[in-house]
Amino acid sequence: MRCPYCKSERSRVVDTTHDSRGGVRRRRECENCGQRFSTSERPILATPLIIKQDGTREEFDREKLIRGIRISCAKRPVSAADIDRLVGEIEAALQAMGRAEVSSRVVGDMVIAGLKNMDQIAYIRYAIVYLGLDDLGAIRQEIDRLLEN
Ligand SMILES: [Zn+2]
Repeated sequence: MRCPYCKSERSRVVDTTHDSRGGVRRRRECENCGQRFSTSERPILATPLIIKQDGTREEFDREKLIRGIRISCAKRPVSAADIDRLVGEIEAALQAMGRAEVSSRVVGDMVIAGLKNMDQIAYIRYAIVYLGLDDLGAIRQEIDRLLEN
């Protein structure tokens, strides 16, 4: 690690702290100029590629998922923090699967399950758009199933 002040490669570690997510932060002191700086190391977890319905693959896109959920939650009592937490949980669950690829349907099911607990109107809106519930019968079936629970 180069000193950001003098570019010397010689520094010593004066303090090491670990965070709850497996990251390590080191406080260093340059042996050449004496300046202190910190470095951090964080494990990079791989998120599986998403297999779309047409068979093509794409990177998991956190922002895109948030946008889709946000549209379903318009004018509903769901906060940006709630949506952010849901997407964070989904991303963590995908990483925990340890697979190279998963179907977009898996992601959709996770969103559906999360929204169902959060807000039923948002859930129905999401189901209509992303599960392709495109006729009234299918939508009604889904609502009936909700009302039964
Ligand atoms: Zn230095």
